[in-house]
This record gives sequence, structure tokens and C-alpha cells, in this order.
Amino acid sequence: MALPTSDSVPFLDLSRHVSPLQEEIEARLARVVRSGCFVLGPEIDQFESTLAQYCGTAHAIACASGSEALLMALMALRLQHGDEVIVPSFTFFATASAVSRLGGTPVFADIDPLSCNISPESVRERITPRTKAIIVVHLYGRAAPMEAFLELAQEFHLPLIEDAAQAIGASAFLAGGEKPVGSMGEIGCFSFYPTKNLGAMGDGGALTTNDDELARSLRLLRGHGMAPRYYHQIIGINGRLDAFQGAVLNVKFPHLEVWTTERENIARRYFDLFAQYRNLEGKISLFPPQTAGRHVWNQFCVRVLQGRRDALRSFLAERKIGTEIYYPLGLHEQQCFSFLGYLPDALPITHKFSREILALPIFPGLSPEEQQIVVENIVAFFEQDDSNKTRGVAV
Ligand SMILES: *Cc1c(COP(=O)(O)O)cnc(C)c1O
Repeated sequence: MALPTSDSVPFLDLSRHVSPLQEEIEARLARVVRSGCFVLGPEIDQFESTLAQYCGTAHAIACASGSEALLMALMALRLQHGDEVIVPSFTFFATASAVSRLGGTPVFADIDPLSCNISPESVRERITPRTKAIIVVHLYGRAAPMEAFLELAQEFHLPLIEDAAQAIGASAFLAGGEKPVGSMGEIGCFSFYPTKNLGAMGDGGALTTNDDELARSLRLLRGHGMAPRYYHQIIGINGRLDAFQGAVLNVKFPHLEVWTTERENIARRYFDLFAQYRNLEGKISLFPPQTAGRHVWNQFCVRVLQGRRDALRSFLAERKIGTEIYYPLGLHEQQCFSFLGYLPDALPITHKFSREILALPIFPGLSPEEQQIVVENIVAFFEQDDSNKTRGVAV
């Protein structure tokens, strides 16, 4: 593996985990070309059974993307016009847009400040007679507190959808032991967008469920509700996955565990590195590690305090160190949802964290030297910042 030749650190470099598999992927894609079977078919069948086994679910249904998975999940649960679905505001847009696309109303809940995951207390406050479902998101690869959510779901007879787009392989600790994400709610939704922990080379997604009836609906919905051909039982969508993505995913899947372990090691190294720099206290805040279950680290996010997030990000960008912001605005503050009438601080933690959160590089192949560069540059920024303040220079 090529070591960094300069002090720059990319936010994400997919080539590092793909290059060793390139020949195998190309051969598998060539096989699909020759097979003439381009949509669904044996590659997808194989992928679905691997995924179901990995998640410990009775069924896995591959589909076109994580966004379509969320849409199909709500369609299978028969979301109607005017129904409310409680979702976090601090998540990717697709979690909520699926609700709106079906004429439902997303009801935004706040997050837990220790994990950035949707807060069970905040969800409880928002349950009304019109609530039809709850979508929990396992944000950044860390399982949401599923014990509390399963209790809520049972108490109010509400189906739980798990948006596990960022969390394949993560698990939560329940009374019965560790449970993989995607296996605890009625339906789990996954994304294989290239930046996710298991990435296709294009769009892809999947749904998991233990419910035979839901699985049947989801398969129907994926193909325009059609069975047999040109006889439409229900109104579905084109949510199919193509065989090329299935081929790539089948080559990559056996390596997911190794890549996930690498992400865990990278996260541990960040904790160790930050612990060496006491002078970052009050400037950078890390999220306490998960104590039970498995965090799969799709992102490593920190909070940048004292209003210095954007300045730090520019400083790092000038030094060619990549960072990202997940997410710069809560969904309740997005223009497209302004008609819902939320005030910015209606969800105070989401509002605050969207101005503080910063994602640092984490991906298979990121070297310890590169992590050192990232952290040293963060330290350098605050040293410069402090000396500017002492000298009274405007910053
Ligand atoms: C990526 C993502 C999605 C959407 O998945 P796509 O495959 O890009 O459509 C949905 N929810 C969350 C939390 C995501 O991170």
C-alpha cells in the first residue's frame, strides 16, 4: 500500500481498499457482461442471501438505493397521506424525504448529545394519534439505543424502521445479547452508495426483515407490484438493483469484516492521539466510546467548540487535509421543510451540533502517519488561534 508522499490527507480515498480487488472485480463484471442478465438475477440472489445471513434476518431484498429502501419500507407499512413519521432531524435528507414523498409528515426529533443518535425521550414527546411509524438512524455507524426504542414501539404499537445506511455490521446490546442493526425493527434499510462501509460502484441499497409478509410486499413493490409479469397487484416502483452492482458487492462483502476492524483501529488511534494533547480540552470534544455492541465508524466526528469549526476546517483545507460536515443544517432548518414551521432552536441539540460537528478522515488504508498529521494540524490551528487572541489579532 502506498504511503503518503506528502503531508496532505484525503478525506476519503476509495482506491486504497478497491485496488487490491480490482482484477477480481473486473473479472466478475466481465462475467455479467457475458451473461446477458443485467437486472436482478443470480448475482443479486447471492448478495441477498449473504446480507440476510450477515444481519441475521429471515429476508434481505436488494434495491436501487438506500433512499428507495426507505421509500419502499414506508410503502410496505402502508403510509397514508397525513400520517406522521417521527425521524431525527440530524441525519441525511433521505430519511425524511421518503415520508414526504408519500404525502406523510416527517416529525423531527432531537438527538442525544453523547452519541448524536435520535433520542428516545425526544421521540416519546412527539408521539400523537397520527404517528404511523418511527425511523431510527444508526448515525455514523453507531447503533441507536434500540432497547429504549423497542420498548416505545411496543408501548405505542408502532413499527420501527432502522435506517442502517451508515451502519452495516454494527450491533446494539439488548437483553438477549448483541443484535445486528437491521434485525431489530420491522424493517432495516441499507445503502451501498460508494462512501458507505460496504460500497458498490454506483447506487445500491437493500431492505432486511424477519416478517414474511413484509418481505413479500417489498419484493412486489420493488418491481412495480408485478406478479406474474404485466399483472400488477399493487402500485410499486422500479426499485431494482442491477447485476453489475451485485457483482461488485459480492466481491467486496467477504472483506467487510477486515475493513470494519480497520475502522475500529483507526478510531481507537484517534482517541489515543487526542488524549496526548490536553490543550485541546474545551476546544475539541470527542464522543464517548460506545460501551456495548459494535460501532462500525462510517464517520469519525468531533465537535469543534468556541465557534471555531469553520475556521478550523478552512485551516485544514489549506493544508490539504480533507474534512466533511455531516450535517451542516438539521432537516428542520432546511428550506424544503420550512413549510413545517420549525424554529431553528426547536431542536436545540441538533441546531447546536450542526454548527460544531466535523468529520475527520476514516477509511480502510488510512495510515497512522496520516492520522498523526490530521491531529497535529488541529493542534497547530488552536495554537495559532490562541496566540492571535493573546496578541489581540482579529480572527
Ligand atoms: C446514505 C444514506 C441514505 C441514502 O442512501 P442512498 O443509497 O444514497 O440513497 C439514507 N440515510 C442515511 C442515514 C444515509 O447515510
